[in-house]
Amino acid sequence: MLVISETKPTYKAYALNNFRNIPQMGRLSESERRAIEIVGHVLPFKVNNYVIDELIDWDNYRDDPIFNLVFPNEQMLRPEHFAEMAQTMKQTDDRNAIRDTAHGIRLHLNPHPAGQVELNVPEIDGVKLMGVQHKYRETVLFFPSSGQTCHSYCTFCFRWPQFVGMNEIKFAMRETELLVKYLEQHQETTDILFTGGDPMIMKFDVFRQYIEPFLDKNNKTNIQSIRIGTKSLGFWPYKFIDDEEADKYLQLFEQVVKSGINLAFMAHFNHPNELRTPAVQKAIRRLRRTGLQIRTQSPLLRHINDDPLAWAEMWREQVNQNCIPYYMFVARDTGAKHYFEVPLVRAWDIFRNAYQRVSGLCRTVRGPSMSATPGKVQILGVAEVGAQKVFTMRFLQGRNPDWVARPFFAKYDEKATWLDDLKPAFSDKFFYEDELQAMYAQKVKDEQIPVLG
Ligand SMILES: *Cc1c(COP(=O)(O)O)cnc(C)c1O
Repeated sequence: MLVISETKPTYKAYALNNFRNIPQMGRLSESERRAIEIVGHVLPFKVNNYVIDELIDWDNYRDDPIFNLVFPNEQMLRPEHFAEMAQTMKQTDDRNAIRDTAHGIRLHLNPHPAGQVELNVPEIDGVKLMGVQHKYRETVLFFPSSGQTCHSYCTFCFRWPQFVGMNEIKFAMRETELLVKYLEQHQETTDILFTGGDPMIMKFDVFRQYIEPFLDKNNKTNIQSIRIGTKSLGFWPYKFIDDEEADKYLQLFEQVVKSGINLAFMAHFNHPNELRTPAVQKAIRRLRRTGLQIRTQSPLLRHINDDPLAWAEMWREQVNQNCIPYYMFVARDTGAKHYFEVPLVRAWDIFRNAYQRVSGLCRTVRGPSMSATPGKVQILGVAEVGAQKVFTMRFLQGRNPDWVARPFFAKYDEKATWLDDLKPAFSDKFFYEDELQAMYAQKVKDEQIPVLG
């Protein structure tokens, strides 16, 4: 009798140098494979065997949401950029020439959206903490130096410049020590959010060094929640099942929860198909048993999830598996934005159509939300005030906490895809604009940084 053992896949990554070895590539046309190479020289590209073998429906790969989530295609560059890169690659094998062309194109793809970094990097004793962003009073973002890659890259990723060497974070030496010191001096900060890349890419012995300081009873920070932003459940759930170190991670998570700190996975799921495999369901069950929470978030993306039924199904499936829907984001204005973007009015339409189809348990989700320079701005909807059609919005988070939860208005614009496209209604400025300008001016004065946007 043939016994089929339960196979435990070993992580195997594919990038430009070896993706042609993926057996399923035989289904693509040569021009599609060539397009992966051309676009993949400009935007980051990496995929792994779990995504390929368990998530993508290869019979319909062209319309498959996960295929579009990880594999580049010709439309992800504007025609002139695609032609330019194709031409260069046809003419030369010279790495430097190809790199120069790629760099020139990248500069047109808004690699530094909203000048975030300059405004958000905090200091301690005159030293800049480059792996830290402190934009909202209660929550500090931390980019651990060993967590700056992912199990697979998303074609829409707004952090793409980090992965092509454009926005490399210059990490401080002794980064954890400085972070803890900063948090001790900032008692208003209750939350630390580990982000990346993906912190769950780290080896256990590296990862635990970032967490353990918060378990030390002598630490004087006011950290009450540790969050981990991760795509690992979507891209490599074996991390928590039968990877060698899976149990060590689960034990550490349990220890954090037992110490009285709230531990939350901020899990990126972009499509309900990512919640259906036995591996992801088992990983979620094991993680939940440690007492950690799983909250979920995703941007709204054309070609991947621009459909209210997909969102309703995704939220319901998440709640069924004991995850908490958290944010629906608007795709940021960077990278292949023209391919993924959805007008704000359509984003709101998809949100409310999905929201109307689910029970209150799923309605912990908030959106559609733009992470813009002044803060996280939620589109509440389209309304008529007097005879004027307007967008109603509010801050979910603000650079100034006092901006949060005040409704404000913009002129209706059916083409607008980002906050910058909107014009104030009933006034010549949005209520926060003068204050935001003053914050910039102060920062420029303090540091003589270049003024961005
Ligand atoms: C979204 C975000 C946070 C977390 O905000 P919450 O509303 O607490 O989830 C923190 N810092 C930055 C820069 C963010 O964009």
